[in-house]
Amino acid sequence: MLKIENPATEEIIRELEEDTPASIDDKLRRAKAAQHEWAARPVEGRLAAIRHFRDRVVQHAEELARTTTSEVGKPISQSRNELRGLAFRTDFFLEHAAAVLQEERVLWAPDQGLEERIAHEPLGVVVNVSAWNYPYFVGSNVFLPALLAGNSVLYKPSEHATLTGLAIAEHLHAAGIPEDVFITVLGGGAVGADLVKRPVGGVFFTGSYSTGKKIAAVAAPNMAKLQLELGGKDPVYVGDDVDVRAAAEATADGAFYNTGQSCCSVERIYVHEKIHDAFVQAFVETVKGFVIGDPMDEKTYIGPLTRKAQIAVLEDQVADARAKGGQVMVGGSRMSRKGHYFEPTVIVGANHDMKVMIDESFGPIIGIQSVSGDHQALGLMNDTEYGLTAGVYLKDRRRAEHILRGVHAGSAYWNCCDRVSPRLPWAGRGHSGVGSTLSKSGILAFTQPKAWHLRKA
Ligand code: NAD
Repeated sequence: MLKIENPATEEIIRELEEDTPASIDDKLRRAKAAQHEWAARPVEGRLAAIRHFRDRVVQHAEELARTTTSEVGKPISQSRNELRGLAFRTDFFLEHAAAVLQEERVLWAPDQGLEERIAHEPLGVVVNVSAWNYPYFVGSNVFLPALLAGNSVLYKPSEHATLTGLAIAEHLHAAGIPEDVFITVLGGGAVGADLVKRPVGGVFFTGSYSTGKKIAAVAAPNMAKLQLELGGKDPVYVGDDVDVRAAAEATADGAFYNTGQSCCSVERIYVHEKIHDAFVQAFVETVKGFVIGDPMDEKTYIGPLTRKAQIAVLEDQVADARAKGGQVMVGGSRMSRKGHYFEPTVIVGANHDMKVMIDESFGPIIGIQSVSGDHQALGLMNDTEYGLTAGVYLKDRRRAEHILRGVHAGSAYWNCCDRVSPRLPWAGRGHSGVGSTLSKSGILAFTQPKAWHLRKA
């Protein structure tokens, strides 16, 4: 039985049957059988169903936001923001899918009787194993373009966002996506492990590096298309010419929004020594102002952690940093209240001997390190196996772009952070993953090319 826990109250709010190997067999068979007819529909038909889904999500946004908050613990205002963002992302796919998926004639030589065309065919059945932290965003980055491209989808929501996954399925089906074209598979890691070893057209995973590594090993022999969107240890450098308070407020939001549980959360900050003390003061003041509380209260900015187990990780990072000379300016402990609450925590005097600057924290904690200038900052930013995002706060754009050209990351931010755009590819490097979603390339990712060589007899 899958027990759905409310992380703010620690109550079990639902119990659901997990999938079994036999039920996964059946779901895979149904998804395979349904896929051809779905792919044979003109793209306008598939677009109409997704447009209807978008409208339903907008119409039911409040109830959907409350469901997500109840099982993920995400502050309600942030759940609402995610649903607003989902409509915006869906619009991108609706606007571009038809043109991206269209066949291309790349040679037309009537004198030789020769034509060459490229067709973008679906992969077949796509397995989507998803994370809980932005269940609408990370799920829809995969299932929307996958469906538009003519695939059927076996969607395993995270065990911490199962009710949200079921709500997504309900609205997709009500919007006209056939039940066998989008099928949920419920359960935890063992169910995911069973699912990804199946012979399918593509395996698309969002989650941690440690799980991604296991999935890569299991899925590879099937020669399925494999995409992995994994964790990060995303750095920000704050240079010496900035408006210190504005930079402190923006980076604090980047570090603590969603209670620090974003793949692109700011995870470590390097500050030019000239402004270090002023920056720390403004940063700590900002963090002290964050409202911690019941995630259903719209004033709440910091909610509980979704997973209880992460509290021990954060405690270990604090103890390790303290032992190595770090100073905890605010927070540092779990909170003595019901729910998986951890105080928003700022550690200064941090360095790369400390876990807080090396290992993904995925919680409301940040390390700040003073640096002598741009060169040292760039070296430290790249001192990681991860490569998801990196940001620079500087007035001088040329200086910032020079640094950002050198960062080993899939997204580069100038005077912004913790930001995703549907128009741009979302792609990790190194331990942050392979392949990309979003943008036009994130539609083509769910297709395989067929090369047509056509010669008139
Ligand atoms: P996780 O790796 O623990 O779980 C992710 C999913 O994998 C869940 O559905 C889980 O049930 C399933 N799973 C677990 N073990 C499995 C196995 N052996 N085989 C197949 N599936 C298995 O990650 P999480 O806690 O859900 O998410 C947090 C992580 O995800 C963080 O590292 C975060 O940075 C990352 N993330 C990355 C992105 C991105 O876009 N790059 C987005 C969101 C989250």
